[in-house]
Order: sequence, then structure tokens, then C-alpha cells
Amino acid sequence: MSEITVTLPDGSRQKVPAGATPLDIARSISRRLADDAIAARTNGELVDLTRPLTSDTTLQILTTRDPEALEVYRHSAAHLLAAAVLELYPGTKLGVGPATENGFFYDFYRDEPFKPEDLEKIEARMWEIQKRDTPYVRLMTPKEEGLKKYAARGEDLKCELIREKADEIFSEYTLGEAFTDFCRGPHVPSTGKIKAFKLLSIAGAYWKGDETRPQAQRIYGAAFFTKKELDDYLHQVEEAKKRDHRKLGQELDLFSIQELAGPGLIFFHPRGGTVRRIIEDWMRDEYVRRGYSLVYTPHIARAELWKTSGHYGFYAENMFKRMEVDDAEYQLKPMNCPFHILIYKDRLRSYRDLPVRLGELGTVYRYERSGVMHGLMRVRGFTQDDAHIFCTPEQIEDEVVGCLEFARDVLHSFGFTEYKAELSTWDGGASGKYDGTPEQWSLAENALRKAVDRVGLSAKVVPDEAAFYGPKIDVKLVDAIGRLWQLSTVQFDFTLPRRFGLEYIAEDGKAHQPLMVHRALYGSVERFFGILLEHYAGAFPVWLAPVQAAVLPITDRQVEYGRQVVAKLKEAGIRAEIDDRKEKVNLKIREAQLQKVPYMLVVGDREQQSGTVAVRNRRHGDQGAKPLDEFIAGVHRLVEAKTPEE
Ligand SMILES: [Zn+2]
Ligand SMILES: [Zn+2]
Repeated sequence: MSEITVTLPDGSRQKVPAGATPLDIARSISRRLADDAIAARTNGELVDLTRPLTSDTTLQILTTRDPEALEVYRHSAAHLLAAAVLELYPGTKLGVGPATENGFFYDFYRDEPFKPEDLEKIEARMWEIQKRDTPYVRLMTPKEEGLKKYAARGEDLKCELIREKADEIFSEYTLGEAFTDFCRGPHVPSTGKIKAFKLLSIAGAYWKGDETRPQAQRIYGAAFFTKKELDDYLHQVEEAKKRDHRKLGQELDLFSIQELAGPGLIFFHPRGGTVRRIIEDWMRDEYVRRGYSLVYTPHIARAELWKTSGHYGFYAENMFKRMEVDDAEYQLKPMNCPFHILIYKDRLRSYRDLPVRLGELGTVYRYERSGVMHGLMRVRGFTQDDAHIFCTPEQIEDEVVGCLEFARDVLHSFGFTEYKAELSTWDGGASGKYDGTPEQWSLAENALRKAVDRVGLSAKVVPDEAAFYGPKIDVKLVDAIGRLWQLSTVQFDFTLPRRFGLEYIAEDGKAHQPLMVHRALYGSVERFFGILLEHYAGAFPVWLAPVQAAVLPITDRQVEYGRQVVAKLKEAGIRAEIDDRKEKVNLKIREAQLQKVPYMLVVGDREQQSGTVAVRNRRHGDQGAKPLDEFIAGVHRLVEAKTPEE
């Protein structure tokens, strides 16, 4: 038998008989490696562990430690789901079945809808197939023959996919008797490898996301290498449901979306408005403290402006339709940048004027398809804490450092201690898809790198992920239940200064193009509000709480005293309300607790006589009676420190 040479990641070479599989080689190295193995990479290509090796190759065994192996594993779990469905419901037609961020889904076409109790049955059958340790078998099929076979089974959508994607001889995979599907693979060798999964939900999904095409029943599942990871994830999903900002927003009367006004447009109610005002005031104060100038710009502008900026062409599908006004077309603004540029350009700038930092809480409108909007997170109208910095090449590093420190202070101030940063760079100019010169890119990327180091932030570099107009740093926060949210962004822009012909007169007396940076730290105020709401599960820290103290008279006799207490609190700048209903005090406490009010101040005869309040904290319960002044001083300290403590 002929031999081939296999080169392992450590550079060592092995001679093996042609036809040996990666799994054979893993076994020859160690039992442990074979047990942990999920898939293999040969000459850069991901393949099944059971694929025979026929010529000299490099070989890497992917184990449960490789992120790519997790994707293979999850996709294999999708096949397991489809095999179970086909065993239970023969004749069901298949759509696609990819891995997702936390698991997998498969699309099924079947006249009868799956019911929630069917999921249990399907999951039980998946475990049966898991126990059978059924192998994932790869078959090679000529395209014409395959098309005939799938057409005979009435799988028209599958035929469409094969026509579009399959090679002349394509791979199919089987799993047991019932399941065969066109798939590139790879998969785990057998179902016994899949140790932890759970079916989650059923949803409708159109073929290729196209509303005019047939609708499938998409079954979602979660899959992880270990039961512990799966349980942690399921716990997180449960927690996330409890913290859903749409639910909390309604329960706490913070905001709404009004059918009559239209989807994706947010109404902040008085309590939500209070929180939002504090968030916005914090930002405006910081702008001023850090040497930004606050500006205000219109909500619409002539289409000509958007032609100059380029948005008219490449951003058109995200913009609302233009409107005719007098003799010109106007456009609702999707971005603030061109407006700030017009302010910069309104006068001749000298190097001595730079840096110019223009900041605004600017409301923008972007068209989102009706299906994709989601509470405060994805909307059609939102307010960015948007600023643009125009500066010289000498200033840029300090400016980026300033932005990153600012971003870090936002996170700390609002109670986030964990975050991650990503530095997105270009492809070195290879593809030609990026704007700007190599000099501009290297200047900008170096400034970002050095700034990241100076701030002591560790940023993962992601090559070829920059915006086409410049490199950027994104900061993502980790919330109370471990979810990652994209928040702040600091982006270079080589395109807009050129398009608008921006200049400054440098020391050499000549006109130069300034560097321009876009930066938004909350991102969108609405979305940041939603993230805070979920992070704190509605229990905002004292400094942000819409109502900081609820005054609860025990009987009617203390209502007058209660009103005096509220008046004093308000005078001291504390947001307080009285609950003077003729209800039992226990019920009042329960309701204030449900409203997540930090302090409940119970007042009875004793408190009235001694000028005190009986303090009850939403977290720590009864704190005993305190003179009102002492309570006020305590709240002031917490608000001053903007601490999550109470
Ligand atoms: Zn597959
Ligand atoms: Zn901008």
C-alpha cells in the first residue's frame, strides 16, 4: 500500500498508509486526543475526522478547545434534530440547518404546525439517536443524479439550493435511515459526540428571508460541549427573559412604542424621561469638562448635502424617503456628521484652533425593515451622543487617548466593570475596497494602537474589519449576566474631509486636510437606556432611579407629615413621592418594592413625633428610624459618588 506524509502543527511528520483518516492518526497520538477530537483541518480545509487522506497534507486535529470545532459540533446537532424530526414525521421537507451563536436551527416544511409539546418529543428522539451513536456518513453524488433524486422527493427548495451551490459532484450526509441532506460538512464522526443540547423554540422563517417565498417552521436549539456550559447558558436566557427591557419598561412605566405613531419610535414617559435626562446631563457635563463644544443641528437637510457626503448613494437604503419642499428635495438625517462638518467649514481654521471637538446629542432617523425592530435596541429614530473631532496629525494620538479614557469613564460611571475592545484595521490595500492612502491608514492605525497602549486597554486586532473610510476601535461591555454589548466606537474618517474639502492652515502657511474622528460612547441613548435597564433588572442605582424615595404614611393621620417629608426631600434635590392612598402600609411597601424604589420611608405617629422616618431599603430591608436630615445626607453621598451601593 502506498504511503503519504502528514505534517502535524508542531512541524513533525508522520508516514501513514494512504486512506488513513485523521481519527486514525489522532488515536495513534493519544487516546485523549481521539476522545476530544471533533473535526480536522487538512491543507487549510475543515474536514470530517473520518475523511480518508489520499495525498501528502498538513493535519490539525480540532478539539473541544477550538472555536471552529464548536461550530462543527453545533451544526452536527442540527443534523441530529433533522434526523429526529424525519423519524417522527416522515415526509417533512428540509430547509437549511446552520450553527448559530449558541446552538443551531433547522428549517422544516410541513403543513401541520409543530406544537410546543412536539419539541419535547423531538428532543427525546434526539437523545435516542445520540445513544445509538449513529455515524455521520458522507456520500458523493453527481449533480444531475442528485437533482433527480431530490425532485422525486418533492424537495423543490433543496433542488434550488443544489443548482446554486453544489459542485458537479457534491457531498450529502446521512444520519441513520431517515435523514439525508445536501451538505458540505464537516460533522462530528457520530452522534455520541454530542453531549449537551436542548431545543428552545419554534419560529416562522421565510426561505432565504424573502417574504414572497415559502415559510418554514424553524426549530432552534442550544448546544455546548458540556452540560455545565449549556446550563449556564439556559440560566442566562432565563435571566434575560426576566430582565427584558420591553417588559420592564412597561412594568415600571418608563417608555412605550405607540401603534398610532408607528413602530421603532420611542416615547419616554415621565419616569423614563427622568432617567434619560440624567444620562444626557451626565454626557453634556462631561463634554464641557473635556473641552468639547456643544452644538445643535437640524433634523432635515437638502438632498444635495447627502449627495456631497455620499450617503445619498451608498446609504440610501437606510434612509427615509426624501420629501419635496418648495423647489428642492429634503432628507431626514440618518447621521449628524455632515452637519458638524458644515460647522467646521463655516470659517477658516488655523492649526491654532485645532483640535475642534463638536459634540451633540443628535437625533437621527434610519429606515429599518418592519421585522427587525426590537424595543429600544433597534429603532427608527434614536439619539446619538455624537461628536466629531478635527485635528492635526500631531494631535491625533492624544485625541484618541482622550476618547478612550472618556469611553472607559462612561462604563465605570454607569456601573460596568468588565469590557472588551477591538481594533479593526484594513487589508493593507490589497482589495482596493478601502478609501484613503496607505500613509493615512498607517498614521491612523498607529495612533489607535499607541492610544490603546497608553490607556492600558487590551484590544484584539481584527484585520480587514475596518469601515471602508478608516480604522476604528469598538468597546463592548459585559453586563450583569455576562452578555456582551457593543457600546462605544471611535472611528477615523478619510473620506468625508476629502468630499467636503476640509482644510486648516498649518504652521507652514499652507492649507492641509485635517484628520477627522467620529466617536459615540453611549452609541444610542435609547439603546444605552435599554442596556442599563437590563443590566440593573430595573433597579437603577440611587443616582439614576426615577423615584429615589417613596414616603408611606401608615394611616391618614400621618399624611400631612408625609407631605412635609416629601417637600423637604424635594428641596434637598431628592426625587420623592408620597403614597397617600387609604391602603395598608404593607401593600404600599410591596408596590414600591415592585417599582424598585430604592428607599421606602414609612411614617407613623412615632416618626411624626420625633421628626424621623423609618427607612426601608429595597435590597437590605428594614434600616430602622433615622432623623430625616441624616437620611438626606446619606442619599446625597450616594448620588454624589454615583455608586451602585445603597
Ligand atoms: Zn451538515
Ligand atoms: Zn459621524
